[in-house]
Amino acid sequence: MLDTKKDKIKPLDVALRQVDIASEKLKLDPGLLEKTKQTKRELTVHFPVKMDDGSIKVFTGYRVQHNVTRGPAKGGIRYHPSVDLDEVRALAMWMTWKAAVVNIPFGGAKGGVQCDPKSMSLRELENLTRRFTWEIAIMIGPDQDIPAPDVNTNPQVMAWIMDTYSTLKGYSVHGVVTGKPLELGGSAGRFEATGKGVFITAREAARHLNIQLEGARVAVQGCGNVGGIAAQYFVKAGAKVIAISDSKGGIYNKNGLNVSEVLDCKKKYSCLITKESRGGDEFTNEELLELDCDILVPCALENQITHKNASKIKAKVIVEGANGPTTTEADEIIYDQGIFVVPDILANAGGVTVSYFEWVQNLQELLWSEEEISERLTRILTRSFAEVLNISQKEKVNMRTAALVLGIGRVAEATRLRGIYP
Ligand code: NAD
Repeated sequence: MLDTKKDKIKPLDVALRQVDIASEKLKLDPGLLEKTKQTKRELTVHFPVKMDDGSIKVFTGYRVQHNVTRGPAKGGIRYHPSVDLDEVRALAMWMTWKAAVVNIPFGGAKGGVQCDPKSMSLRELENLTRRFTWEIAIMIGPDQDIPAPDVNTNPQVMAWIMDTYSTLKGYSVHGVVTGKPLELGGSAGRFEATGKGVFITAREAARHLNIQLEGARVAVQGCGNVGGIAAQYFVKAGAKVIAISDSKGGIYNKNGLNVSEVLDCKKKYSCLITKESRGGDEFTNEELLELDCDILVPCALENQITHKNASKIKAKVIVEGANGPTTTEADEIIYDQGIFVVPDILANAGGVTVSYFEWVQNLQELLWSEEEISERLTRILTRSFAEVLNISQKEKVNMRTAALVLGIGRVAEATRLRGIYP
């Protein structure tokens, strides 16, 4: 039984509880349910890295493939002090459901290294990335498992992974990672894809709920790749981003922030709250989540909306840019309050969708334009939103359970069709 009342909520417990809730609707065979909950392959590596001061430091990293029934495993690599095996397992499982929700032929995976990248030099990060790639090279590859960026990793890190893997193989293997720089086979639109997808699904939710995006008050937690880009799309659509934050805190203006100025400031000082960040007041992440706004967009880490703060949330819509920002217990409270949630496995699926486009282009040596990518992404996400909404209305369940029913149902059907070997 999940006890989210404990201070430490494990994302894996949340992910497993979600599977239980969806499988009741799907009436899954108990054996199939057990398979669905288990990861397929897990690799833990302890590896040495040469640091700038001449010392050698040993890091721990993970690569987990949750399910490969529908295609090669796919999922990001995270660098963060709190990375552990259970977190990576949960994130890998969410990747499986996400790829199935948007119906792209990938399974789910995730990786990570327990480290504090903010305290490391660029050279140390490169050394760590190259050695970690070498350690997990037995698991990854364009037909097997394709990493991508996640928290604290970026196109440069993907370039190092691609180069190290290619050096091992003896030829360039562009398709081994996605989210690469454009010069190395990256796709137009990949950098923006997750944040843009968050905006597209928010727009669909607003349309469904008759909320005007023009003038809507939006609060964004986290201003990295996902949150920073989503915020800019909301501004372009005429919404007012009234609050935005990073790990150290946030900035608030009830009349709307100048988002590009705020993000420039963050780039320059690695912090939102500086003397230069005029136009807004200092604000905590806790205050941001409980802010009176129309759309709340959590784009940081797991377990931000829990039983402790769920009843204080005033937003009409929550669009989950982050993976696992809401616990199962909080889900129930939010649903009872009539708040509409676009769940992570739908809201942030823009990233894996354009990663799929990048992989397809790499394998076939194609080059699609930004317009083509944008048009395909919008089509897939609006169709997926409509499918999830349809299940939610037909089955009278919240949007998260509807998305899980769609995703897990597709994986279960693929498993049934393939059969169990031998
Ligand atoms: P990022 O490293 O670019 O940015 C993370 C942001 O969150 C930073 O602004 C950081 O300061 C902030 N943050 C970290 N801890 C915080 C805290 N405790 N409170 C408030 N803010 C905090 O990472 P990202 O790629 O934007 O990923 C953010 C989330 O989106 C993660 O959950 C990730 O798994 C998910 N996601 C990312 C992608 C992608 O393509 N990058 C795709 C799907 C999902």
